[in-house]
Amino acid sequence: MLLEIKDLAVEVEGKLVLKDIDLSIKEGETHVLLGPNGAGKSTLFLTILGFPNYKVKNGSIIFKGEDITNLSTTERVKRGIGVSFQHPPAIRGVSVRDLLKLESGQEIDQPLNERMSELSEKLKFNEDFLSRDVNLGFSGGEVKRSEILQLLAQMPDFIMFDEPDSGVDIENVELLAEELNILLDKDKKPGMRKKGGLLITHLGYILNFVDADWAHILMDGKIACSGNPKEILDDIRKEGFKGCVECARCNS
Ligand code: ADP
Ligand code: MG
Repeated sequence: MLLEIKDLAVEVEGKLVLKDIDLSIKEGETHVLLGPNGAGKSTLFLTILGFPNYKVKNGSIIFKGEDITNLSTTERVKRGIGVSFQHPPAIRGVSVRDLLKLESGQEIDQPLNERMSELSEKLKFNEDFLSRDVNLGFSGGEVKRSEILQLLAQMPDFIMFDEPDSGVDIENVELLAEELNILLDKDKKPGMRKKGGLLITHLGYILNFVDADWAHILMDGKIACSGNPKEILDDIRKEGFKGCVECARCNS
């Protein structure tokens, strides 16, 4: 088991946002988290990452067999948790290039290594772009591609993607999906996959290119349904979130 969340309840700014959350993700599995705006999807990510504003009121988060519920974000990242943020902050005075060097364990005064230079090009970032301050004045699509590039520098064992496809045009969604598949070991045979992931997507479009093993619907801070991603997405498209969680399959 890569990640195990047991009976988790989380409070943000004095408000109980998540409750009774149970979720287990094995090595090699990709899970999808769906749900309406405000359901608590980003809160779950930021809690797993250990952001201080997100207070665990009950339950535990176990990563690779170790209880990380009370560890700092730095310690969690060191253990192999990575994230692409929905709305990452701009970092003035830090160039994309320098951040990539830090994330890939390179010395700052050395040129960016070949692997990262090639990946930057593949994700359509030229040298001028790499000199820009992180996220400062980036378009929506540039923010998303930059987040994925940073993950490729880190190569974490467990990755959470918060709406990597929102605001990205169709052509670039396929480009991003290709890299997501590499980050999630999808280029390896099922038995050889070690990485795991949790993917938030609003419209599910990216699932046409990234295979998911399980889907979960988060409603009002609770996991209301879990099951086969394709079936659940079909139901959401037909019935909406509310109709989907009221269906017989979930309640049987
Ligand atoms: P989702 O990602 O599913 O759209 P969020 O996790 O962002 O939902 O938000 C869930 C609820 O928690 C919302 O009601 C939101 O306003 C509240 N919330 C999240 N983060 C904060 C915060 N830092 N301060 C106050 N309320 C927050
Ligand atoms: Mg969100």
